[in-house]
Amino acid sequence: MTTETRETVTGSGIAPGVAQGILRFFAPVAEGTRGSAATGEPETEIERFAQHVGSLIEDLREMVARLGEDSASPGADILRSHILLLEGSSLRSRVEETIRSSSLAAEAAVEHAIEEIVRVFEGSGNPVLVERAPDLRDLAIQLRQRLAGQQPSLLAGLPQDPSESILATRELLPSLVLEAHTRGVRGFVVDRGTPLSHGAILAQSFDLPVLRVPRLEALWSLDGSRVLLDADRGELLVEPAAADLEPRLTEAAPVVVPDPEPSPLARVWLNVMDPAQLVGVDWTGVEGVGLYRTEMLFLGGRSGMPSEEEQARAYRNLFERCAPGRATVRTLDIGGDKALPYFSLGPQDNPALGLRAHRIYRFHPEILITQVRAILRAATGFPALRLLFPMIECVEEWRFVQGLVDQAVDSLAAEGVAFQERFERGVLVETPSAVWSFPRLLEAADFASIGTNDLIQYLFAVDRSNPNVLRTYGPEHPVVLQVLDALARDAKKAGKPLAICGKAGTDLTLLPVLIGLGITDLSVPINRAQAVRARLAALGPRECRRVARECLRAKAPDEVLELLGRPGPPKGPDAASHRGAEWMDPVCGMAVHADGNPLSTVRHGRQFYFCSRECLDAFLRQPADLTNQTK
Ligand code: PEP
Ligand code: MG
Repeated sequence: MTTETRETVTGSGIAPGVAQGILRFFAPVAEGTRGSAATGEPETEIERFAQHVGSLIEDLREMVARLGEDSASPGADILRSHILLLEGSSLRSRVEETIRSSSLAAEAAVEHAIEEIVRVFEGSGNPVLVERAPDLRDLAIQLRQRLAGQQPSLLAGLPQDPSESILATRELLPSLVLEAHTRGVRGFVVDRGTPLSHGAILAQSFDLPVLRVPRLEALWSLDGSRVLLDADRGELLVEPAAADLEPRLTEAAPVVVPDPEPSPLARVWLNVMDPAQLVGVDWTGVEGVGLYRTEMLFLGGRSGMPSEEEQARAYRNLFERCAPGRATVRTLDIGGDKALPYFSLGPQDNPALGLRAHRIYRFHPEILITQVRAILRAATGFPALRLLFPMIECVEEWRFVQGLVDQAVDSLAAEGVAFQERFERGVLVETPSAVWSFPRLLEAADFASIGTNDLIQYLFAVDRSNPNVLRTYGPEHPVVLQVLDALARDAKKAGKPLAICGKAGTDLTLLPVLIGLGITDLSVPINRAQAVRARLAALGPRECRRVARECLRAKAPDEVLELLGRPGPPKGPDAASHRGAEWMDPVCGMAVHADGNPLSTVRHGRQFYFCSRECLDAFLRQPADLTNQTK
């Protein structure tokens, strides 16, 4: 083992965790297909295509049944969505049309048709539609492999045994993750995708960390190297030194919580985006679901809002999987960075400050009324329902939203439909105005949760998705701690529980401070819950209060981190960009656009992009061996 880590590549984690292994580059391309060869016999090609679609659907059904049995993952639901895509008429008719009009072989027609649909998805500007593109590419590869008579395995082309490797691949195709998981792959490095992609959701469910780097090509020379992938800190350590390796692996080691009882310090809840994530979950010491983000139901390849019936089915799924625990359903938080392709939000020069969540209901109250009706109907017989309302800025907005909830209740009662009449109403604190309104909001709300992801964004006026402005974006900032302190005091006075459901709640170092300030509930991603419980088990209330008092006196985030014994975050802009066409200017370190950026040059076969002529010139003046973008 070396005494110094050879190189550190920075990126952003899109599925959390830490793993070590050998870095292996891999491109799951269907080899040996007939490309664009014309066949002249369209009907034969259409017949071949139909046969292979049928056999793929059959195999997917079998896999769904297997996954359902061993309750391993949300994989079954994701594969079901693939079956729906294959069964639907639009893909089929597009391929058939291509075969007829261009006399192409079925393999080439599949490629053309799917690429066309992918282009529409990617051009939509909708992050979730963009994230469905890999699902389509996945199906294209599988169909082409079958049409070419190849073994249907995405990893078949990998020369070495993939077990214990870290796969570097352009994007996470869901079937690749499923296969890689069964063959012992330990993690992934990609340069496309976000935590919303099905591949990332699957990887997370298998506890496989995923790191997104700016450019995969920049790592080619590292193929075969021993690496430590630390998606939690957004780093890939090449030939890591023991001193760097051990603390991170210990932190990430599977946690054993000796005490099955809930902690007396705080209740732990789960965050989910999809009820399918709850299959096979370890509920030990967990209270229930503290945040169900319902947006996924409204996104993902749809052409309109889900009906009340369709929504009710999804919510029933959640309640069945959650019982006897409690379930907190957050009403739709659409807008901001989550736009619906089928619903215009009008001119939005500044989406984070524009139409979002209940602001949309001023124009379309039926959206919330339908959702609440669906939730209440689905919760019939499920007594532990909590509704959580996002982005509430002040008492008037709370009242407006509750008025719509009451309308939903009244309409169900008038129709004589069975529904859950008893439920709690919670306020999600995400804006500075909500902080100032908190005592009054608490007079009406049964519980409160703090959305630290948005609250920090609005406190500091920094766009949470802009990697160049994230320096102040951190829960350890004394400003954030003071705000949390004020909120906790208000909640205590009102005798109401106060949760954190943003990312800050998963920060194990900060946990004693949060507890010491008076946070009573933590809602965290499924794969963080037992680690949070283990940390809570090691804490005492007096020590937490002492640490919190000291941290409140700090003047800067570095001081807080020092008090907590953790080094500060790496300096320089965070590479945590979720946009496909950005990476770092190697001179100033700013994340810059690649698409349409004329300030660019190629060195060592790699393309570099710049913010300005000055940086480009400075780069060109540097000796070639000093230009290392992966630093
Ligand atoms: C938050 O803002 O902290 C939160 C939980 O909501 P989201 O991340 O979905 O905006
Ligand atoms: Mg939020």
